[in-house]
Amino acid sequence: MATLHLQGNPGGTLHKVQARGGAWSGHITMEHGAQLQAPLPPKYHAMTPDEIAHGIAEAKRTLGSQLVILGHHYQREEVIRWADFRGDSFKLCKDAAARPEAEYIVFCGVHFMAESADILSSPHQKVILPDLHAGCSMADMADIDQVEEAWEVLQEVCAGQKIVPITYMNSAANLKAFVGRNGGAVCTSSNARKIMEWALSPESEGGAGGEKLLFFPDQHLGRNTAVLEMGFALDDCAVWNPFEDLGGQDEDTLRRAPILLWKGHCSVHGTFLPIHVDNVRKRYPGIKVVVHPECVHEVVVKADDYGSTEKIKKIVEAAPPGAQIAIGTEINLVSRLAQDNPDKLVVCVNPNVCVCSTMYRVDGPHLLWVLDNLLDGRVVNQIVVPEAIAADAHLALQRMLDIA
Ligand code: SF4
Repeated sequence: MATLHLQGNPGGTLHKVQARGGAWSGHITMEHGAQLQAPLPPKYHAMTPDEIAHGIAEAKRTLGSQLVILGHHYQREEVIRWADFRGDSFKLCKDAAARPEAEYIVFCGVHFMAESADILSSPHQKVILPDLHAGCSMADMADIDQVEEAWEVLQEVCAGQKIVPITYMNSAANLKAFVGRNGGAVCTSSNARKIMEWALSPESEGGAGGEKLLFFPDQHLGRNTAVLEMGFALDDCAVWNPFEDLGGQDEDTLRRAPILLWKGHCSVHGTFLPIHVDNVRKRYPGIKVVVHPECVHEVVVKADDYGSTEKIKKIVEAAPPGAQIAIGTEINLVSRLAQDNPDKLVVCVNPNVCVCSTMYRVDGPHLLWVLDNLLDGRVVNQIVVPEAIAADAHLALQRMLDIA
């Protein structure tokens, strides 16, 4: 019988709906003690934006150095304006670690980011996610059961070949722990090349000695890095589909391919198409196109440059007045770059691109609600990674820090 599987990260949010074994029969299971976001008290819905802003400002003032607010680049304006630090997920975790005096870390981002902050922060610090429904559709595309199953099959089919697992930062803590246990490392979009090269370098040279690597959950970051930065051919990359036998490949392909890519992607960056690059160049002749490596390979090869959100931001800031730049990433960051650089033309590669709907769940009322609770001595929406998972996940994160 087919099962509809509802799954949450340990201690975290309900984040996955996945049919297994055929059409859904109506049976529902929940794993890992999934939590649902409690509805906000009605008073928060009745408040005006000015009242919300005033409340947040007052709460920040009262909590002082006990509180640090982190804001991912993709957060909406009404939230990020309150962030003590802005950045990508990894930079924010490091920023939080640099504020050990802050007992409360309010992470305005998504679930996997809050988990990483909990793993990397000090034991006395409490990490809070303003809306537990703020997950990540890409992170949800690989779960621990699927990865363990794939690992088992690959060990059998590729017997005698050392496989090194690499997980993108955008993954659940239990996947980072899997990678830590199995000799791999975490990577970000800024250091994917260094980590993948480490995975495939001989142990005598300080590498992991892998003959191949299994990269999850984002196939596009893995492929773009392998092909555009490490000299592999597209043909060297084989995609593992967790919903098909042998990942949808034959045994020879799995044995031959040095780069095994999980069939996952970002639903936001997946909306950018090569035609959008052509169109924006027609609209603005001479415009520089810069995209995120989570975009499909065909888009990245058409662009003039690509990189992490931090790199994109630096490119725009370093451009001379009058420069024209089309950006292929989430619209909140593009809009902010346009606003902060009024002497340059900054547009989105795809004029119809949508926001990251999970990031968008964090809004002013949710931020005020968690702060009001802190003022009342209550910690709500705390993200806690269980110790057993945190230890292995920390290992994978530490390897990344040591390598990159
Ligand atoms: S932009 Fe994509 S990868 Fe980033 S949080 Fe949203 S769905 Fe996840």
